[in-house]
Amino acid sequence: MSISPLMPVYPRNDVRPVRGEGAYLIGERGERYLDFASGIAVNALGHGHPHLTKAIQEQAATLMHVSNLYGSPQGEAFAQRLVDNSFADTVFFTNSGAEAVECAIKTARAYHSSVGNNHKNTIITFNNAFHGRTLGTISATNQEKLRKGFEPLLPGFAYAPFDDLNATLDLVNDSTAGFLIEPVQGEGGLRPASQPFLQALRDICDKRDLMLTFDEVQCGVGRTGKFYAYEHYGITPDIMASAKGIGGGFPMGACLATEKAARGMVFGTHGSTYGGNPLAMAAGQAVLDVILEDGFLDHVNSISDRLRGALEQLIPNHDHLFESVRGLGLMLGLKIKSDPRDFVAHLRDNHGLLTVGAGDNVIRILPPLNIEQAHVDEFIQKLSEGAASYQLPEA
Ligand SMILES: *Cc1c(COP(=O)(O)O)cnc(C)c1O
Repeated sequence: MSISPLMPVYPRNDVRPVRGEGAYLIGERGERYLDFASGIAVNALGHGHPHLTKAIQEQAATLMHVSNLYGSPQGEAFAQRLVDNSFADTVFFTNSGAEAVECAIKTARAYHSSVGNNHKNTIITFNNAFHGRTLGTISATNQEKLRKGFEPLLPGFAYAPFDDLNATLDLVNDSTAGFLIEPVQGEGGLRPASQPFLQALRDICDKRDLMLTFDEVQCGVGRTGKFYAYEHYGITPDIMASAKGIGGGFPMGACLATEKAARGMVFGTHGSTYGGNPLAMAAGQAVLDVILEDGFLDHVNSISDRLRGALEQLIPNHDHLFESVRGLGLMLGLKIKSDPRDFVAHLRDNHGLLTVGAGDNVIRILPPLNIEQAHVDEFIQKLSEGAASYQLPEA
């Protein structure tokens, strides 16, 4: 037998973390890494945050899980908090980002079905989108590498170029249910949508009674310096998927919707065994205690300005390799003139710095949201040393 017990779907690297301390990971042999990947934008409060750890420990000892057969004071309280702090009127809790997107897709279709428009079932998504790995969410992207070998996929999706309004409007017809878009694309190369583009999607949704659905699984929960990224754009979605940072490392997600958008999601239409269990709710509450605290998002924005400024200063010193900085808040991308995965590996293996590759030759810089200036300084120093010691692969 040669297959590994752990199904070999990930090309895992040689870092084998066994412990975390704030913005640092510690490997099996005691080696330390500065973690500017945060488990792909999940560890919003870093590793071992005392408030989050304590909340999980206490809730685990009190009540972990009961199923959704019973009333949920924990779920009601956390849903209310999300409602109070967002566009939404109602929330469905999931265990992952893909499940939150699945719920969002079902909510959009169920809306049209509930008003007697069963034919309005096609959701327009965007090139280079990443919405998860379930059959529904791989059907919602046209990225070949996510879909190949898993056909037949789900019908009912159409794909437009990201941020290209005319090409998007060309796809709108009588079968359109709405749009599903990451306001800031993560996996696809850290691209924020432009304000006029999202505004135009909002306008056409209002005009034609379509559902504007945002996938904020990566860009939500303080990552961009707002609680949710849509706040940068002065518009609101009808439906939104949230996950990653929302549990600070505890697996959970949420599908948020307006009352109108959720009109098809009635008794018996959807469910989840674990979704919204008391343990997850305690983790989510603890994360929001920190993120929604006065001044926390101001801190994200000011540290982001300093990190971004330092990155921009660094570019001319290494202009054989670095091209530009993009992104919002602490969801930053450094576009490079080489294979991002190779450079990410170099930083990791030779300089103890963790970042994440993305599409479009971008390395993603996703530190914990509570980093301090000293972490920025250390990051810039490691990145600068990494750029200086990097041998461009032969073309
Ligand atoms: C990570 C991600 C997902 C999928 O989340 P999972 O928890 O891995 O299912 C969906 N959408 C976006 C934008 C993501 O970044």
